[in-house]
Amino acid sequence: MRILISGAGGFLGSHITDMLLGQGHEVVGMDNFITGRKENIAHLATNKNFTFIEADVIQPVKVDGPIDRIYHMASPASPIGYVKHQVATLKVNSQGTWNLLELAEEKGGRFLMASTSECYGDPAVHPQPESYWGNVNPIGMRSMYDEAKRFSEACTMAYHRERGVQTRLIRIFNTYGPRMDPYDGRVVITFIKQALHNEALTIFGDGMQTRSLCYVSDLIRGINLTMESDFIEPINLGNPNELTILDIAKEILALIPQSTSKLTYRDMPPDDPKIRKPDIRRAKEILNWEPVITRKEGLAKMIEFYRDQLV
Ligand code: UDP
Repeated sequence: MRILISGAGGFLGSHITDMLLGQGHEVVGMDNFITGRKENIAHLATNKNFTFIEADVIQPVKVDGPIDRIYHMASPASPIGYVKHQVATLKVNSQGTWNLLELAEEKGGRFLMASTSECYGDPAVHPQPESYWGNVNPIGMRSMYDEAKRFSEACTMAYHRERGVQTRLIRIFNTYGPRMDPYDGRVVITFIKQALHNEALTIFGDGMQTRSLCYVSDLIRGINLTMESDFIEPINLGNPNELTILDIAKEILALIPQSTSKLTYRDMPPDDPKIRKPDIRRAKEILNWEPVITRKEGLAKMIEFYRDQLV
């Protein structure tokens, strides 16, 4: 197949690109590098099955030739990233989604929207099933991301219902692994960087808020299975093993025994969800998917990747 990936220079976009090239497909990658990184796709420079277009999908997207699949992965995705690029985040998840849905309609291809667990906001239902409508502050410090992703979901369903476009929707929960931006502030990469640099690990609030961490190889396998399934409504993709931020810090320090880092406490950012854990029954049933990489394995692989880069 010939596959378009927006955000191909990002953490997830670059891993999906590698996976699809490995399956023998032709990939057209797009990125404007607002938060994506050239080094994530530098190894593909001589790959004959990979074409790269440096462009912003909020501009009309023109691609010659057939397009069988579109993965819309482009967006700032860390709280620091989307607050720094508020308007761009709103645009890529509205006009950008719209443009790619138009392209899917024109080409007769299938479109997958990378949505997010942030659609559930600070959840009042735990764990979060796809049927939960969420608890999002529409004007809060995460609203430019949360509401734009919610709009993208509505847009995706409208193109499916009214125009008959083949669409797929996933809600991605916290994911970690090699190629995360060490400076985007997300918890796992930040703690690994701080531990490798012997700096104090910055715990926000009392560190009792929870997250559930999925290793990147598990996640992208789920994304690909969703794209190739027949299922239209949203599917949660994430690892349901929930733990506190304090425990994440302790696990990372245990895996880097030579680190002299201690913990330091900072104010809790506004609208930071207190709990998060995916209900993945739908993914299990529809895709026969569940994560297989343990945190110990995944964190060890990630630390190995960054040990040379960051020390
Ligand atoms: N967090 C933290 N210290 C950091 C970065 C993040 O305690 O240096 C906490 C943050 O408050 C949140 C959780 O870790 O509760 C996950 O934050 P992240 O930015 O990775 O993504 P989120 O899940 O909030 O979108």
